[in-house]
Amino acid sequence: MTARDPLIEAIARNPRPLVMMMIGLVGMPLSLWLFTPERAPAPPAPVPRVQETPPPARAPALAPTETVGPAGPPETPAASEPAKTIEQPVRQTPDTEDSDPSVPLTQAMPLAPDPAPPAGTPPDDALPVLVLPPTQTRYIAIIIDDIGYVDTLGARAIALPDDVTFAVLPHTPFGAELAESAHRNGKEVMLHAPMSNLANMPLGPGGLTPALSKEEFVKTLSLALEAVPNLKGINNHMGSELTTLESPMRWVMETLQGRDLYFVDSYTNAASVAGHIAREANIPTLTRNVFLDNVQTHEDIDREFQRLLQVAREKGFATGIGHPYEATLEYLEKAIPTLTRMNIELVPVSEMIRLQRSATDAL
Ligand SMILES: [Zn+2]
Repeated sequence: MTARDPLIEAIARNPRPLVMMMIGLVGMPLSLWLFTPERAPAPPAPVPRVQETPPPARAPALAPTETVGPAGPPETPAASEPAKTIEQPVRQTPDTEDSDPSVPLTQAMPLAPDPAPPAGTPPDDALPVLVLPPTQTRYIAIIIDDIGYVDTLGARAIALPDDVTFAVLPHTPFGAELAESAHRNGKEVMLHAPMSNLANMPLGPGGLTPALSKEEFVKTLSLALEAVPNLKGINNHMGSELTTLESPMRWVMETLQGRDLYFVDSYTNAASVAGHIAREANIPTLTRNVFLDNVQTHEDIDREFQRLLQVAREKGFATGIGHPYEATLEYLEKAIPTLTRMNIELVPVSEMIRLQRSATDAL
């Protein structure tokens, strides 16, 4: 019989302690390796917040809806194009002037509908440019000016689909009646206040001129405001002279104060101070971006309408002004129903002002 090591014999008799020791030797480092904090399942990494929208760009000195501003280069393609000149188009309604009244009617006028940037506007006057996120709905407002002289075209304008806004001339044959009709149809109504122009064009009744005393001025505007029912605000008819004058513009805003009315600067002169003075007086305000029908052909109206949409796509908001011309109405009757599928919403002017204000506050 072979002599055996007593230790081996002991292990052979009872291997359990050895097995336990082996398990301990292997198991402990393994469990340490498995359960040290580094090996524990990592907590979910914080998901970086995807910034879906670029931060609102701030441009140095541009009013919110003006396509051109006091200090910057022209922003719209059309504004940067060299101005072609054409013969002054024949107007279809009385004393419509809102394109560029600084040019006498007998002369050729620049085709570029937006005037050059106002000169000398202090930078602190301007609000930052509003830029909505690219995925968000864009907004346009369309104002039809010069309502009041022609009942058939006025009625056809009011029948335009969706939230078109109507600017009604005071003391005109059909103004009050059409304003009532627009209101009944759920459309927003504003006063189209006639203001003096540099081309000496007749203003019609209710005209505001620098020759009026403050008392006469306020009375004339007050009577005009009373002549058109259901008003939400006003804009200027013509006005290439008056909107450049500070005192009369202050009188306008004083008359609006307490009446809960907004002011739209039709922007018929690049040197207009109207928007600035409205903001100073805390009157809700916006500035027209595009005139749709300075030239009343389908092609020209379409080009300006596309420009309106382009401003809306770039800035988020754009306001256009048209007139109750056959060509304009025919165009808008077809164009307005196509806006929804482009994710563009047509809103009344009061809503446009509210949207712009909340976007400005969010900056
Ligand atoms: Zn007008």
